[in-house]
Amino acid sequence: MSQNKYYITAPIYYVNDKPHIGSAYTTIAADVVARLRRFSGDEVYFLTGTAEHGTKIAESAEKAGKEVRVFADENAAKFSLTWDHLGIAPDDFIRTTEDRHAQAVEKFFLKLKSSGKVYEADYEGLYCIGCESFKKETELTPEGLCPLHNKKPELVKERNWFFKLSEYQEILKDKIEADEIKIEPFVRKNEVLGFINQGLEDIAISRRTAKFALPLPWDKEQTIYVWLDELFNYCTAVGYGADEENFKKFWPADAHLVGKDIIKFHAVIWPALLLAIGEQPPKKIVAHGFFTVGGQKMSKTLGNVIDPNDWVDKYGADAVRYFVLREVPFGQDGDVSEDKLKVRYNSDLANGLGNLFSRLTNMIEKYLGGEIAEIEKSAKRAEIEDALTLTDNFKFNIALEKIWEVIAWANQTIDKEKPWELAGKDDAKLKSLLNDLAAVLQDIAFGLAPYMPETAEKIRAGLSAEKITKAEPLFPHIE
Ligand SMILES: [Zn+2]
Repeated sequence: MSQNKYYITAPIYYVNDKPHIGSAYTTIAADVVARLRRFSGDEVYFLTGTAEHGTKIAESAEKAGKEVRVFADENAAKFSLTWDHLGIAPDDFIRTTEDRHAQAVEKFFLKLKSSGKVYEADYEGLYCIGCESFKKETELTPEGLCPLHNKKPELVKERNWFFKLSEYQEILKDKIEADEIKIEPFVRKNEVLGFINQGLEDIAISRRTAKFALPLPWDKEQTIYVWLDELFNYCTAVGYGADEENFKKFWPADAHLVGKDIIKFHAVIWPALLLAIGEQPPKKIVAHGFFTVGGQKMSKTLGNVIDPNDWVDKYGADAVRYFVLREVPFGQDGDVSEDKLKVRYNSDLANGLGNLFSRLTNMIEKYLGGEIAEIEKSAKRAEIEDALTLTDNFKFNIALEKIWEVIAWANQTIDKEKPWELAGKDDAKLKSLLNDLAAVLQDIAFGLAPYMPETAEKIRAGLSAEKITKAEPLFPHIE
């Protein structure tokens, strides 16, 4: 098999926040595709991490009564531990306060300066600290508030450095239309093209008054605008300016996974900056939607923010991974809740997959003395391969639906053929039936391995034992 490189990123998350079910969602999705690609023999690099610079974080640390670095250390660890708890295995966890990042960002900015695409000018604009970005009047509510933070942005008047984003209007439009920079889902591609067609304005790349940010290398009175520092993490992690060989191998990124709220930074500003320094833009940007919880927006004020750790403790990591990717089509907004998780847990996992595994192993023990034959290709191999292709295309919910059709087929086959009635009457048929079903279940485990690594391994181990015995329930029923 020819080995390709595959570089996939989840966002880096702000350390002023704790991991919640929304950030878990993106990171689980990236982990699933990374695992799939590793199985196919690709050399995979899966990156996530934490964004630790900026006024927002400095102020949150102050509020918590902590030194900003201590505050960042504590919260970065929370993210890292949560991902571990969810069975997410990134190849790298970058923190923007690391030296390797500061060094790479400095090189990047010097290169950007020498590209001739930056200039100094006076600027006056409305700045939302929550977003860490300038807002146009048209982006605010009729009351003049940031729609994401419900806060009035502050009027900032500064002399700043600017990047000539306006020069990239046509080239970005062409590359996005031609899918050279592929934006998914289609609705986001249209949104980005619509934004570009309104006309791109130059953007500030530095700030004079920001707290806790990297210095601009050629003007120490200015700090680097945090968003640009953060975007550059994708290059730092694979060795920009430090390990050119590794950087050349992995860059450009094959897929950036992002929330729909940060699509413009990733699909417009980021590719333009890369083009300015002579690097290739990312190949693909996939934006997911937002979760509501029981029909309501998830917010600290409403107190309905879901900590994925609580769900993992109750239902297990694999059930949470399955639930979020099965419940909502990736790319669309959707509703999640513990009640919905419970329904899926009992019906799909306990009654569907779990039941199939325990009754099949039970019958293999009882009727075949715990031994099965090796079967080259199961009756449902094509369906499982389809599911894996869908997974590779970020169509997680449809892939899982397909796998569950196979699970339902296997359970129905048992109900229909009634192996217990064949015993002693038609042992040859009984044996081939159970062997065929075991082969299908092995394929099911193969298809599920990227999604539910622990469960897939339990099934694989259960079916490859020398003497197969009735398995413990994979998912005990929950009332
Ligand atoms: Zn805002």
